Amino acid sequence: MSRAAYDAIIVGAGIVGAACADEFARRGMRVVVVDREIVGSGATAAGMGHIVVMDDSEAQFALTRYSQQLWQALKRELPDDVEYEQCGTIWVAADEEEMVEVRRKREYYAARGVPTEVLDSQGLKQLEPNLRSGVAGGLRVPEDAVLYPPCAARFLIERAEKRGAELRLGASIVEIGEGRARLSDGSEITAGIIVNAAGTWAPEITSGLEIKKRKGHLLITDRYPGFLRHQLVELGYLKSAHSVSSDSVAFNVQPRRTGQILIGSSRQYGAEHKDVDHNMLARMLQRAAEYMPALGRMSAVRVWTGFRAATPDKLPLIGPWPGDRSVFLATGHEGLGITTSLGTARILADQISGSKSEIPIEPYLPSRTMKGIRPCLAR
Ligand SMILES: Cc1cc2nc3c(=O)[nH]c(=O)nc-3n(C[C@H](O)[C@H](O)[C@H](O)COP(=O)(O)OP(=O)(O)OC[C@H]3O[C@@H](n4cnc5c(N)ncnc54)[C@H](O)[C@@H]3O)c2cc1C
Repeated sequence: MSRAAYDAIIVGAGIVGAACADEFARRGMRVVVVDREIVGSGATAAGMGHIVVMDDSEAQFALTRYSQQLWQALKRELPDDVEYEQCGTIWVAADEEEMVEVRRKREYYAARGVPTEVLDSQGLKQLEPNLRSGVAGGLRVPEDAVLYPPCAARFLIERAEKRGAELRLGASIVEIGEGRARLSDGSEITAGIIVNAAGTWAPEITSGLEIKKRKGHLLITDRYPGFLRHQLVELGYLKSAHSVSSDSVAFNVQPRRTGQILIGSSRQYGAEHKDVDHNMLARMLQRAAEYMPALGRMSAVRVWTGFRAATPDKLPLIGPWPGDRSVFLATGHEGLGITTSLGTARILADQISGSKSEIPIEPYLPSRTMKGIRPCLAR
């Protein structure tokens, strides 16, 4: 039998594919990354770059916390243009009812070793003087960070290349399976495994994947140095992010190193077009101005949209695809793929090499979506 050309083909050079390439190459695997566009051009180019620990479920917490710590460990190696800043998140509580949630969240994080600080109204106003008066308080999570996603993806790909990985851009994969990836020009690449890291496009090459596009809008302002110091997110964000059907907006703002402010966020299902939806944008900006009135008077530089790859149970798909021994998935990261890219790469590489992972892998296995079918691990 002839030997496959590579140990792994990675379809997609977004942040997830880039992190996988870097981790696989670090472990000595022969890797080729294939993308039909350029590095970090999909959701990665559209994302906000908030590295955030979340507690929607134990599984979501485990992957976000693990990944947040991996980013922290990497920070000294990140080049300047990745703009990694450990500015922390403040979850803003509008009223006393939301302060109950602040205290619940604090208990949850404390029990799992995540440092936090509960802020009352005055403490919050001192840290973020441009928030409107009368906000009840908040929870500061100082180890959360922000970064610029396309440059982070490029850094990971370049490091993978230094470790021997190959990169093929402008090449579209039309079919994967049985250790082969077929390109649109009819040629084939062979490998022991193929990782589908194609984000929202993953179902095009792995049929049966339940991934829906969830559209989001972002706006970036002109430079207003010192206006904002933390990533501020309303606690109501959790309610809007949880909804799996309706359109929603939430106050979610990020300070950039340039002094610009990135304003989010919106979530829409069934909106397949990239065009800016001016109604959603207006709702999003109105929400932001309700929390920070001065935002309404700032100049905007650019508005754009992007699509999150959403799964029905809000957890990513990481591991072997039960439909084909050679196919592994690394997709479905919804609004957390920048954060969880590093953890995804580690636990996927662990599964491929048969090593024990730092966190339980079961919640992310694609087999959970195909009841009754057992995954076949390629060892
Ligand atoms: C508005 C918005 C805000 C967000 N904010 C955050 C945030 O603050 N924090 C966070 O952690 N996450 C955030 N996210 C989510 C994050 O951006 C994504 O989860 C992440 O970028 C997904 O990366 P990926 O590599 O899986 O996919 P992508 O970046 O979409 O990469 C997929 C790649 O596959 C390539 N491809 C697809 N099909 C093929 C094919 N057949 N052949 C070859 N190449 C192919 C594409 O060209 C693309 O480059 C946000 C997303 C949006 C839309």
